[in-house]
Amino acid sequence: MLHSLIMKPANSILSSYGVTVFETMSRLAIETGAINLGQGFPDEDGPEELRRLAAEAAVAGPNQYPPMLGIPELRQAVAAHNKRFYDLDVDWQTEVMVTSGATEALADCMLALIEPGDEVVMIEPLYDCYLPMVRRAGGVPKLVRIEPPNWELPRDALAEAFSDKTKLILLNSPHNPAAKVFNADELQFIADLVQKHDAYAVCDEVYEHLVFDGQPHIPLMTLDGMRERCVRIGSAGKTFSMTSWKVGYMTAPAHLLGAISKAHQFVTFTTPSCLQRAVAAGLEYDDSYFAGLSAQQQSKRDRIAGALEAAGFETLKTEGTYFLSVDIRTVGFEGDDAQFCEHIIREAGVAAIPMSAFYQDGDVRHFARFCFCKQDAILDAAAEKLAQHFGARGA
Ligand code: PMP
Ligand code: GLN
Repeated sequence: MLHSLIMKPANSILSSYGVTVFETMSRLAIETGAINLGQGFPDEDGPEELRRLAAEAAVAGPNQYPPMLGIPELRQAVAAHNKRFYDLDVDWQTEVMVTSGATEALADCMLALIEPGDEVVMIEPLYDCYLPMVRRAGGVPKLVRIEPPNWELPRDALAEAFSDKTKLILLNSPHNPAAKVFNADELQFIADLVQKHDAYAVCDEVYEHLVFDGQPHIPLMTLDGMRERCVRIGSAGKTFSMTSWKVGYMTAPAHLLGAISKAHQFVTFTTPSCLQRAVAAGLEYDDSYFAGLSAQQQSKRDRIAGALEAAGFETLKTEGTYFLSVDIRTVGFEGDDAQFCEHIIREAGVAAIPMSAFYQDGDVRHFARFCFCKQDAILDAAAEKLAQHFGARGA
């Protein structure tokens, strides 16, 4: 018997989203042979030593379920990392959990903390999974916008977005895609609102070691009164340049971690133990590894900024992350950012991400984001293609 063509629909919230812009642009880059400065991933893998450790751990075994919260070595390393970089005293047994990427950590937080109808404050532009996850968990998004070129925090609007219904703010610093690093004053303003409204803060700090020009990364958790209200999330994918590993870690006070672990135990339960072992060793690297990572990316930022400016683009400031954005009007492009990205991938052979993809709607339609954690020769080649295409001076 034929099945009816009209079957019961899947969940309406998730079904309403298309394939992510990162996947779409990467696929198109492969199809067209374009240089992919769209989706954020390094084109050189992180430390070979860590890859060998992971491989050796897989061969030596055991390859069976590790403890649900993560292997002790990694949880201890996360606690020590918190102490070393931020002077946070963390109990590795009750305040640290390992997840399958920061993405799972974020999902766990939303599933475990949000009660349907709770309000969740978020700062647009938004990393792609935030809004679907919050909405799927039953949260009511309260969006506040920062905008190019200066990305100033609109303090009045932020204060208005908070209410007694606010369960949490989802804060990303260093911010993807704005490349903004929230400073002490802005963080204090946010901390005051969180405390005033008895809310929590879920802090996506995956780019914590990609901050430039000597500016510090300040976890919101380190501010007075915030230790008990914050969840701090990191990612081995970013810190060790291995985005496929999907090893994340969260630090939270025991009362929150206990609640969030209830989501983890039913979503993934554990994360591959061979990868956890390698990440534990990585987090124990001495300071020079972490300083080297940001120094290397800072020089790539300067390289791509210089080359894109020579190609005629006005570039926006990049304080952290590995993304740099340009104003597409400055090379005389008359369409919007989505048309621009479609155009340059096909006509210039370079992929980028339209900034508007990170907003719900609105008029931010003239900026494109380039990912610069690529080999210097690739960055130069991409800028050269754009310079030739747009007929820049001297190209
Ligand atoms: N948050 C932000 C802001 C990101 O840019 C990324 C990178 N994809 C993630 C979370 C996800 O990290 P992971 O790959 O560890 O899940
Ligand atoms: N964080 C990456 C970016 O912003 C993408 C990760 C993904 O594709 N999910 O480009």
